[in-house]
Amino acid sequence: MEQGASEAQIEAVIEHLNAHGFDVHRSSGVNQTVLGAIGVKPDFDTRIISVIDGVADVHRVTESYKFASRSWKKEDTLIDINGVTVGGNEVIVIAGPCSVESEEQMEASAAHVAAHGATFLRGGAFKPRTSPYSFQGLGEEGLRYLRAAADNHNLSVITEVMDLSKIDLIHQYTDVFQVGARNMQNFDLLKELGRSDKPVFLKRGASATIEEWLMAAEYVMSQGNPHVMLCERGIRTFETYTRNTLDLSAVPVVKKKSHLPIFADPSHGTGIRGKVIPMARAAVAAGADGLMVETHPDPASAKSDGPQALFFDQFVELMQQIRVIAQAIGRTVRDPQPA
Ligand code: PEP
Ligand code: MN
Repeated sequence: MEQGASEAQIEAVIEHLNAHGFDVHRSSGVNQTVLGAIGVKPDFDTRIISVIDGVADVHRVTESYKFASRSWKKEDTLIDINGVTVGGNEVIVIAGPCSVESEEQMEASAAHVAAHGATFLRGGAFKPRTSPYSFQGLGEEGLRYLRAAADNHNLSVITEVMDLSKIDLIHQYTDVFQVGARNMQNFDLLKELGRSDKPVFLKRGASATIEEWLMAAEYVMSQGNPHVMLCERGIRTFETYTRNTLDLSAVPVVKKKSHLPIFADPSHGTGIRGKVIPMARAAVAAGADGLMVETHPDPASAKSDGPQALFFDQFVELMQQIRVIAQAIGRTVRDPQPA
C-alpha cells in the first residue's frame, strides 16, 4: 500500500483479495502496510488490485506457468530421443542447413555433422520467410530427403512445423517438431502439439519476454506433452550489426525458472557466419544444454540464410572448441564418430 494509505483503503483491498479467493496476510510497518495474498491463481490479473486506490505496487511472487516451472518440478527434464538424452550432462548439437534443398545437400550435411559429433539433423521443408517471394521450402519432398539422410547416419530429425494442417504429415518424418520464433504464440498450433507424442523444440519469439516464452511452453505442456525443449535464437533490439541479439542471459534465467532443456541458436542469433563460433562457445559456457547451428556444403549457393551458414571446416572447429569448454564445466560433447 502507498505510504499513508487509509485504513478504509487497506480494508477495501483485503476485501477484494478475499473475494477472489485469496487469504491475506497483513504486515504493518511504521509508514507502510504490506498485504500478502496467498493462493494459487496462475491466471489472476494483478492489475485488478494495482488500480485500487491506495495500492502502491503489486508483485507476483509465484509464476503464472505451472508445468514449465522449476517450483513444480525440481529435477531437470531429460528427454530420450532415439537413445540420445537431451537435458542431461551431454551438450547436444543439432546441425544442418537452413532449408532442405536437395538429396545430395542433405546427404553431405548429414555425413559431415554426424562424423563430428552432432546427433540431430536439421533442415526446413516448410520455411517461414519474411518475403513471400523467397524460397518457401520443398515440402514433403524435402522431408523425405531429410529423413533419409538422417537415417543413413544415425541422426535424429528436427524440422519446423508452421501450421496445424501439416502436423500429421511432418509427424511421419520427424523426431522433434520445431516451432519457429514467428509461431511462438500460435496458440492453436501449440495446443495441438501438446497432444502429440513427439517432443517440441520451442524457439523464443523475437520480441518475447522469457515469461511469455515459458507461457508458450505451458500451452504445450498443459495439453499433456511434457517434452518441450526451449531455444534462445536472438531477440530484436536496437542493434544493427547483428541480425538479432542472442540473449545468453536467458540460459541461466531459464535454468532457474524452469526444468526444461534450453538450447541456443547462434546462427539465427547473430546472422553472420563469423560470429557463430564465438557465440556457440559462450552459449556452452553459459550452461546451454545444446546448440542449433546452420551448416551448408556450399553456403554461397544456399537458398536461405547462406551468410550465417558455417563452412564444413568451421563446423569441425566449433565442435572441437565446445568440447574443451564443456569439459571445463563438467559436461561432455560427443566425440567425432567413425563413419
Ligand atoms: C529456423 O531455425 O529454421 C528458423 C526459421 O529459425 P527462427 O524461427 O528462430 O527464425
Ligand atoms: Mn535459417
